[in-house]
Amino acid sequence: MGGRGAHTPLQLQRSRRLHTIAAIVIQLKGTCLKHSQNTRYVDVAPLGPVPELLTYALPPEWQGLARPGMRVLVPLGERVVTGCVVAFQDIPPTNAPKFVVDLLDDEPALTPDLLALTQWMATYYVATWGETIRAALPRALQPGSVQTFTLTPHGRSIAESEARSPLESRILTLLAQHRSLTLKQFQRQITAPGLRSTIQRLAAEGVVEVAHKVSASRIHTPTEHLFKLALSPEEVESAIPPLERRAPQQAALLRHLLQTGATTAAELRRHISGATQVLRALEQKGLLVRVERLRAPMLALSTETAFLDAADVTLTSAQGNALEHIQQLLRRGEFASVLLHGVTGSGKTEVYVRATSAALTQGKQVIYLVPEIALTPQLLTRLHARFGHDVGVLHSRLTRGERLDEWLRVHQQQAAIAIGPRSAIFAPLQRVGLIIVDEEHDPSYKQEEAPRYLARDVAIMRAKLCEAVVVLGSATPSLESFANAQQQRYHYLQLPDRVRTKDLPAVVLVDLRREENRAGAGAVLSHPLRQAIAVRLARREQTLLFLNRRGYATFVQCHECGYICQCPRCSVALTFHIDDRTLKCHYCQFTATPPETCPACRGTRVEYFGTGTQKVEREVRHIFPQARVARMDRDATGGRHALQDILTRLARGEIDILIGTQMITKGHDFPRITLVGVVSADVTLGLPDFRAAERTFQLLTQVAGRAGRGEVPGEVIVQTFAPQHYAIQRAQAHDFHGFYAEEIAYRKRLSYPPAVRLAAIRFDARDPQAVERFCQTFVALLRPYVRDADGVTLLGPAPAALAKLNNRYRWHLLLKAPTARRLHEVIDGGLTALRQAATPRNGVRLIVDIDPVNLL
Ligand code: ADP
Ligand code: ZN
Repeated sequence: MGGRGAHTPLQLQRSRRLHTIAAIVIQLKGTCLKHSQNTRYVDVAPLGPVPELLTYALPPEWQGLARPGMRVLVPLGERVVTGCVVAFQDIPPTNAPKFVVDLLDDEPALTPDLLALTQWMATYYVATWGETIRAALPRALQPGSVQTFTLTPHGRSIAESEARSPLESRILTLLAQHRSLTLKQFQRQITAPGLRSTIQRLAAEGVVEVAHKVSASRIHTPTEHLFKLALSPEEVESAIPPLERRAPQQAALLRHLLQTGATTAAELRRHISGATQVLRALEQKGLLVRVERLRAPMLALSTETAFLDAADVTLTSAQGNALEHIQQLLRRGEFASVLLHGVTGSGKTEVYVRATSAALTQGKQVIYLVPEIALTPQLLTRLHARFGHDVGVLHSRLTRGERLDEWLRVHQQQAAIAIGPRSAIFAPLQRVGLIIVDEEHDPSYKQEEAPRYLARDVAIMRAKLCEAVVVLGSATPSLESFANAQQQRYHYLQLPDRVRTKDLPAVVLVDLRREENRAGAGAVLSHPLRQAIAVRLARREQTLLFLNRRGYATFVQCHECGYICQCPRCSVALTFHIDDRTLKCHYCQFTATPPETCPACRGTRVEYFGTGTQKVEREVRHIFPQARVARMDRDATGGRHALQDILTRLARGEIDILIGTQMITKGHDFPRITLVGVVSADVTLGLPDFRAAERTFQLLTQVAGRAGRGEVPGEVIVQTFAPQHYAIQRAQAHDFHGFYAEEIAYRKRLSYPPAVRLAAIRFDARDPQAVERFCQTFVALLRPYVRDADGVTLLGPAPAALAKLNNRYRWHLLLKAPTARRLHEVIDGGLTALRQAATPRNGVRLIVDIDPVNLL
């Protein structure tokens, strides 16, 4: 055995070109291979929901090359799938193993600590190791496999001669025209039923050949080519005139390069038509040379934003103490976790930046998590100014290719700082010494699809594995983190005052129950809020208006019979959007035209109720026609640069009033915002979720924190129907500790986290009876384990608050346990019993969500 030839009958064709998507076609025809004495085996985690590890034989030529953490292609049933080598295996499996088909990486994609981390996650979050590994890799490294169909030589010879059914003829004609087609491509051309089975029949006949195509990017260095003049400027000048008539574009390109120096082909194409050919011609003449340089897409994205920078500030004493403490921990080189609790505007970012600097000085690398990177252009600009190319930005709004480029730069350790949203916790750095989790309370750190991890907790585990220091920062720490700090599990560092004005803004509550506050029926802004905005406009200061609901009207109802327009697929009311005059479901993207008459009773008085950001915008524009108004929510910021445009305009003072959802509450630092209006504090209070009060307190405190960050003190006006609620009262008083005391007492009384550990187990299916039945069966299997374990309680089963989502009926149950371990024992018991009982699923999906954030 030896060489690729050993793989026959596996046929392998692939393109080795760097940075192209390599297409690999593998034909599987009885891949049973003999293995010899020196065969080694590897355990592979397939990157999908295949539950167990599979053992494969490693062809001899890769035995010196393969390492844990590398991606491989392996045969699995009829398909070829991507997996990750997790370990070597010396004991051959009992059944004849198949061979690894291809080794995808020259370097491990995952570092050893990431392998350990993903393994821990798989156990803790009840996922497969393959799923957690997949979550740790950028999309472009998670190849998919598709079936493709081609004509066999036999098929080609008979394609036109034989009499066949119309569907068969159509299939054969299409295949004769296109060399190969996927099922999707077929479906676009042929709508007749029985397409799939007909193709299969043709395959069985030997007329059509089925292959599996896997596309996968390889790990490589992201580079781009720059074109430079090969001669001195004088020589080029003299080369231009003779080209002027025969090849004017060549002359133009040379003149362009004389001005710019080195330039990318993409840039040149923007200025000169047909630049690609022109470049080739000039290269052949020896006038140009290509040079390679590393590509760094984020530098291009962030250079245009002109923001203030606090590069040379002197730290306040609170900042200095916090930094000193973190530096001490860094010097110790052991795992430690820190809760940095600093009020809004207390200068937490400056502490993070300097701690980063300190870690770099010690030769350590840094992971910096932020809730949403697109919302933090200021931070990026600042980090780039300070650390230049050392910053790798794992940005969720980059294209797939750009994301891969940045990931690869980090992977090659060419960036020592990786910044990004929750998935950046998997940055493939090898010497992580510091992990920062900014706004650690933010719900976006929870991934709501498998694996359902909470990046803040994964950060703590990664820090343990790397002996690193993890800094969790927030003005409104989560109850979980604050409880940990109280129990001395975390070092607790405080920044109690604002840097500039010292004082937090004054918060005024407007009681909407009082008639005199309201500006008439249907009006969104109360009298006090209107007056306050008018004052800001006159003083040329900026206002933020916050409402955590997008769209125009939150429901549409018939005045006569009370019918509410519902999503046909989900158990929620449809939201009316005024820009395109449609009704939309915010859960499944269903859209409909609003009815003129009631669909139930044909009544003609169909009315619009409830307020979203679009209605606020309309009212603001109506009352203040002279104001420059912008809106920032998911509808208004679809484009890649839209968000940044709004933030840049806000920074330049080109916006007087910005209306938005929770996007506007996060981290922004604009000194000219002196008024924040909360249109309704009650949106989150009413949610059926034990964290409703916490979430409300956090949102109010965070949005209030945007006001008065400059020289002029800020004011916050909060409209509410529940001014006496403790979450609102404590937010008004800027009293986190008071809020915590009240909230933790309630969590203890009712047994909710952090007093207990929680798991949600959800069931959904298209058939409402099937889901209920299955859920009851599972609960019966689970009950004995609940009874046997101390202090474990089970709530439910019951239909979920969101009883139907995307045509799937949902049930859930909650498990509470004194420790995570107990919780896992019970869940594992239940799942094992379920496997043994082999209860038919009937299309029911079971989802385990450990430490759930969303309970709807
Ligand atoms: P936080 O993240 O705690 O809300 P920031 O880090 O955004 O606060 O800091 C608030 C503002 O104060 C920023 O504009 C920052 O540049 C500035 N700042 C931070 N530290 C200092 C300091 N020591 N002296 C002067 N300005 C500072
Ligand atoms: Zn829906």
